[in-house]
This record gives sequence, structure tokens and C-alpha cells, in this order.
Amino acid sequence: MEDFTIKILALDDDPFMLKLIEKMLATMGYTSVVTCEGGLAALELIGNPDNSPDLILLDLNMPEMDGLEFVRHLVERHYIGSVILVSGEDERMQQAAEKLARAHKITVLGHLHKPATPAGLEALIGKWSAPAQRELRADKKIYAADELRAAITNGELVNYYQPKVVTSTGRVMGVEALVRWQHPRDGLVFPDQFIGLAEAHGLIDDLTSAVLIAAFAQARLWQDAGLMLQVSVNLSVDNLDSVDFVDRVVGFAAAAGVPPQMIMLEVTETQLMEDLRTPLEILTRLRLKRFRLSIDDFGIGNSSLAQLRDIPFDELKIDQSFVHGACNNEKLWAMFDSCLGLAQQLRLESVAEGVEDRADWDFVRSRGCDIAQGYFIARPMPGAAFVEWLPTWQRTFANSKKHV
Ligand code: C2E
Ligand code: MG
Ligand code: MG
Repeated sequence: MEDFTIKILALDDDPFMLKLIEKMLATMGYTSVVTCEGGLAALELIGNPDNSPDLILLDLNMPEMDGLEFVRHLVERHYIGSVILVSGEDERMQQAAEKLARAHKITVLGHLHKPATPAGLEALIGKWSAPAQRELRADKKIYAADELRAAITNGELVNYYQPKVVTSTGRVMGVEALVRWQHPRDGLVFPDQFIGLAEAHGLIDDLTSAVLIAAFAQARLWQDAGLMLQVSVNLSVDNLDSVDFVDRVVGFAAAAGVPPQMIMLEVTETQLMEDLRTPLEILTRLRLKRFRLSIDDFGIGNSSLAQLRDIPFDELKIDQSFVHGACNNEKLWAMFDSCLGLAQQLRLESVAEGVEDRADWDFVRSRGCDIAQGYFIARPMPGAAFVEWLPTWQRTFANSKKHV
């Protein structure tokens, strides 16, 4: 049921847009609407508990304080209402902003392209619900783009590595590099707190370069120690829009002395759903250079079969939401099986992510999924810890076989 008394704040630097939105909301029947032309005024309003809005319609592109900066202030003020992004930015930018806000546990009901239509607005406002409780959110710190830029330059980003295991033999065939920010004051900061920020502020190319260089150097160390491990690296789709990206990756691998066949490049399914032309070309060129390609978090987006057919993927990673607990849940089981079936029919190597416990491990093995990754095997760890972990896994696996 719609609640027409919720307090709505519309924030936009364009007075004409504000008038338009105000009118639409009035027509829909919302009675408590205020507008602000700048972030500072809006923050003042939010600071007062009596006026604090339940819902903010937020323009991303404002001269005085942009929408992302405004979101940062919302988090600092523990705002618990919802947000709808309304802007003229392109789809990718809107998605990055949405992801960033969600990473900070701001409830984002969705985004609208300007000019917003009454139907679009109504549909998103319809998703509003009162915050369940004034739950105390884990205080995730919000970082500014400049801090991240400095961190990349100062080498504060480090890779952790999570093993991938062949389910039929227990052999550790590779690792996935997962970036962390070793923050001088805040300790280890996880990627959900800064990847969206990097994408939104044009820092993702530098970030990915840092991750690739470190991952290749680590791959080389393992190679020299006689460990043949495939190393996976996550790419952002924003990396795939500059033509020199391929040359850069090729150059990094050559400099480290790592054969491209040993490198798996992951792109998430949801990021691939939009305009595919440039990513398709760049991914295909990487494949021609013998790098291997993986489609990550598969199953939660709705990529078309044609996309899967057109990009020369080698691996399909089934999203962890269909893995953990699937053995006791009919729906998850069905989703898992259909992702797996697709991988098998397309002759892609199948990887189950989020194998958290023994039941998950037994399940993915019994379904015939090729590779498993998850806390049951190991949590991501610094590169140097891997050689110590490896023999403990080999012992655990050998023992577990005796018990079957
Ligand atoms: P992802 O690529 O799907 O990576 C898997 C995530 O699941 C990792 O989170 C990993 O720590 C976590 N995980 C592994 N096993 C389990 C399990 O058994 N249970 C549960 N609940 N979680 C498990 P992490 O490291 O926080 O990374 C989150 C996401 O951030 C990654 O998801 C990836 O999309 C992104 N990311 C990480 N490193 C990079 C990077 O270098 N570049 C880019 N563009 N994105 C990155
Ligand atoms: Mg990944
Ligand atoms: Mg994943």
C-alpha cells in the first residue's frame, strides 16, 4: 500500500526539474514534498530529525556538491531513509553510483533517466517501505576519490588470493586475486567499499593495472617455485572501453614472464548486459592473445544466450547465491543446475563460488561442477600465506576421502 504521507525531498540544481518533479508528485497524491537546489541546504534539512525525509530523489550531477559526495554525507549522518537517483548520466554511471551507495548500505530504490516519467517515478516510489528497525549499521567508512587515488599511487592496494579446487581430484588448480586496501589507519578495507568509487571517478584503470601487475608478479613467484597455478583477475567493464587496455595487459604479462594461458580474466555478468560492442572487441582481442576469459557472478543478471555465444568465454562462475545452501533448497538447486547445464552445453569450465561448508562441497561435487571456490576450502589470503596453506588442504582432502 502506498503511503502518501511519506516525506520526500527532491534535490536538483535545476529549478525547472524540481518544479516538474514537484508537480508529478502532487498529481500522484504525495502531500509532503520539499525541494532543494543544493546539497548543503538538503543536509541541513536532514540534520533535523523532524524534517528528515523518508525518501530522497537525488540528482547526480550538481555543480556545488555532486550526488556521490552527497551520498557520502548521508552515510556520515546515518541516514536511514531511501534514495532514488534521477540524472542525465548514462546507464553505466548510474549503475556505478547505485552500487557505491548500496555498498554503504544506503537503500537505493533504483535510478531514473532524466526527464523522469510519472510512471517510472511511481514504480520506484512504490518500492518504498519503512526501515525495518533503526538498525545500527556496521559503520562502513566512506572514502573520497582523492584518498583512493593516493592509495593506488602509494601502493596501499594489496592482492589476496583465494584457491580454486578441482572437485573430482581435490587438486588446487588456481587462485583468484581479490584486491584489498591496506589502509594505514582503518586496516584492511574490502573491495565493495572502493571499486564503485574507482569506477565512478575514472580510477579503475589505475586500480586494475596495480592489481594485474601484483598478480602477475605473484604468478611468476609461484611458477619459479614449481607451482603451476592459474591466476584469475577481476576486470571492470569500464576497463574494456579503452583500446590500449589489451596492449597494457599483454605488456604486464610479458614483463613478468607469465604466459597468458595461465591468466583468467573475469567480467561480471551484470556489467556485460549493456552495450557490448567495445567490450566484445577487447575481450576477443585478449582471447586472441591467449588470455582466458571468465563470466563471473553468473545467474543474477540476465545476459542473453547470444551474449554468451558471442564472447569467447572459457569459464562460467555460478553466483554464490545459488551455491551455499542449495542442497536444502529446491529453488536454489534448480537455479544451480540450470547455470551448470548451460556451462556444460557451451563447453565452459564450471566454477561454483561460495562453497562455504561441507554440505555445499558435497553438493557441487555430486552435481558434476568442475571447480569449487569458497570458505570451505580457504578464505582469501596474502600470496605469501599460500604455500603454507597448500599442504594443510592436501591433508584435509586426503582425510576426507577416507571418510566417504
Ligand atoms: P567476486 O569476484 O565474485 O569474488 C568473490 C567474493 O566472494 C570475494 O569477496 C570473496 O572473498 C567472497 N567469498 C569467497 N568465498 C566465499 C564463501 O564461501 N562465502 C561467502 N559468503 N563469500 C565468499 P571480496 O573479496 O569482498 O570481493 C567482492 C567483489 O569485489 C568481487 O566479487 C569482485 O566482483 C570485486 N573485486 C575484488 N577484487 C577486484 C579487483 O581487483 N577488481 C575489480 N574490478 N573488482 C574486484
Ligand atoms: Mg571474481
Ligand atoms: Mg563472483
